[in-house]
Amino acid sequence: MQNNKEWQAAYSVIEQLENAGFEAVIVGGAVRDAILGRPAHDVDVATNAMPDEVKSVFNHTVDIGIQHGTVLVIVPAGSVEVTTYRTDGEYTDHRRPEEVQFVRSLKDDLQRRDFTMNAIAMRRDGSYIDFYGGRQDIEAGVIRAVGDAQKRFSEDALRMLRAVRFSAQLGFLIEAETLQAMQDKADTISWIAKERIKAELDKLWVGQHVFNGIKKLEESSLVNYLSGTFQADDWCEFNTQDKLLGWAYFAVLQGDHWREVLGDYRLSNKETAFVKAVLAALKALKNGWTNMDYFSHSQQELETACYFAELRQLDVQRPQQSIYAIQTNLPIRHKQELIVKGTDLIKWSGKKGGPWVKESLQAVLEAVVNGELQNDRQQIKNWIEHDYFKKE
Ligand code: ATP
Ligand code: MG
Repeated sequence: MQNNKEWQAAYSVIEQLENAGFEAVIVGGAVRDAILGRPAHDVDVATNAMPDEVKSVFNHTVDIGIQHGTVLVIVPAGSVEVTTYRTDGEYTDHRRPEEVQFVRSLKDDLQRRDFTMNAIAMRRDGSYIDFYGGRQDIEAGVIRAVGDAQKRFSEDALRMLRAVRFSAQLGFLIEAETLQAMQDKADTISWIAKERIKAELDKLWVGQHVFNGIKKLEESSLVNYLSGTFQADDWCEFNTQDKLLGWAYFAVLQGDHWREVLGDYRLSNKETAFVKAVLAALKALKNGWTNMDYFSHSQQELETACYFAELRQLDVQRPQQSIYAIQTNLPIRHKQELIVKGTDLIKWSGKKGGPWVKESLQAVLEAVVNGELQNDRQQIKNWIEHDYFKKE
């Protein structure tokens, strides 16, 4: 795992900083995940070099967060975020420090980090610097605030939600004092930007232990200050690798309020459209899907609806074949495949265009998709003239 490209890039950056006389280590999630034997996505480096010093050591750098001391260093093996050791200044609004101070001591940098498991540093030779007992807590499966938990959550309320999502990702417990502090400070979560809350929930939904995470939301009483309802029992069997399925399932559990709740979390239009489609497919599944349902939904939407019906143990008419096979065998798969256009209908009818064109075209489409009418110009013309227009 530590042989992969990201680690190699980080090692090479550390080596170059060391050669220039600085100290540099790997910190944060990558160290935690390496100890756990989990793949890490970002391998972050911390250093006692000031941002300008980091920039002078490397040919290619990008200022991605220079005010917080972060420089992106580009080396042949990849790119690495290098952050100068820092302490956070005063927190006045439960979310961001007013300012950060760069420091030369790793210990001070590790002290500002949220949990002991995230406050371990690793040298290039593989040895650890672990002032707060992070490895022991990882071993025991415990999430514990670094220092005084009350103070740490007062500084930044998002940390409470981070604790919850780590418990969903790792299946860890939250240590008693840390949990108590969460209960005491739960109301301050309302200070946090909805986008940041969403980003944590995105990660919670795809955790291997979602039930555990929602349980912690309940136990900490964070549920009382978040939009929507969360009940751990609803999530016992839920398991996905796709955060969108998490939001769609969460929406199912909100009943009629789903739209406003998801709006509170600032879901994008695309995400909301997917959720809406899944909810519609789930509703339609009660009486079994028609050809039109197979036609108008994606395979993923239908599969998701089936999965939710199973989770909720709903009484539904399941498809008899694979969704893929049914969709493949539909007479047509896309609206554009319909052989006639609105202009044909206008010509055949001798009428002026108007809303009727769209309605008639929809009727033709449904008849074709349902297999009642062939996708053939002459047959459609006959059908329109003899059956459809006559009926009107
Ligand atoms: P992930 O695997 O999701 O990236 P992570 O622990 O790496 O988890 P990041 O948001 O990438 O989380 O942050 C990197 C590190 O920065 C953390 O491990 C932690 O040491 C520190 N950190 C991040 N957010 C906070 C915070 N709100 N308060 C204190 N320290 C934090
Ligand atoms: Mg990370």
